[in-house]
Amino acid sequence: MYDGVKHLCGMRTIIAGNWKMHKDKAGVADLITRLVAGVRSSPTRVEVVIAPAFPFLGMAVSMSFGEGLHVAAQNCHEEPDGAFTGEVSAPMLKSVGISHCIVGHSERRQFFGETDEAVGRKITALDRVGITPVLCCGEQREERENGRHFDVVATQLHTALAGQDPKVFARTVIAYEPVWAIGTGLTASAGQAQEMHAFIRSELVKIAGEGAHEMPILYGGSCKPDNAAEILAGPDVNGGLIGGASLDPASFLEIVRIADAPMP
Ligand code: PEP
Repeated sequence: MYDGVKHLCGMRTIIAGNWKMHKDKAGVADLITRLVAGVRSSPTRVEVVIAPAFPFLGMAVSMSFGEGLHVAAQNCHEEPDGAFTGEVSAPMLKSVGISHCIVGHSERRQFFGETDEAVGRKITALDRVGITPVLCCGEQREERENGRHFDVVATQLHTALAGQDPKVFARTVIAYEPVWAIGTGLTASAGQAQEMHAFIRSELVKIAGEGAHEMPILYGGSCKPDNAAEILAGPDVNGGLIGGASLDPASFLEIVRIADAPMP
């Protein structure tokens, strides 16, 4: 039972940095060097994940190996190979040592037309090669204002996860990211986040059965050191997907430290 120290209840805590289309090779190397130094000087129980852009994934894996950092891709294609110019497949990611992959980020849905069905196929592709999918879901501002946020998130989850092999659920991580909070400086209140995370947990139970209680649910949306403690304290909040603040090593490491500390 949750008693304020979630690590002791067997649930993983994950802090993942989504670096989006930021940083060149030197910038990525510098950021990883600083994160490695931070994690070396303060070892953590938190599963720390970084998601640099595609060209730097191999370098990121080499620099992170044995250093307590996991490397994620920000997207993948659903097919294992083929004539899909510009795309990158799950087996390719596996071959360079990628452990996690973000799917269904709202920016991919908004700018690249990614559908819930396509997200589901990407999850299947990732599972085939043993990569952990980080499935993003979340409502637009208008959807929350119209009281449709629970329906929207339920549809995203059920469509992407319906029909998946049950072993997928043991691996999959959910990231709740209200779209109106991403990169805007607005955050869900701790109450709004916990309310939605508890709802997601109840939907996951319908989809995955009791295994849903082992599925980490991360919060994303302008999470920073000054609001992380409050948001991460929610009993169903198992970590964070961090955008802007993950580009600053001190901020990101501080969020990791907060996530590792016993919650009030
Ligand atoms: C994100 O894009 O996944 C994200 C959470 O961004 P930010 O923290 O900048 O809102």
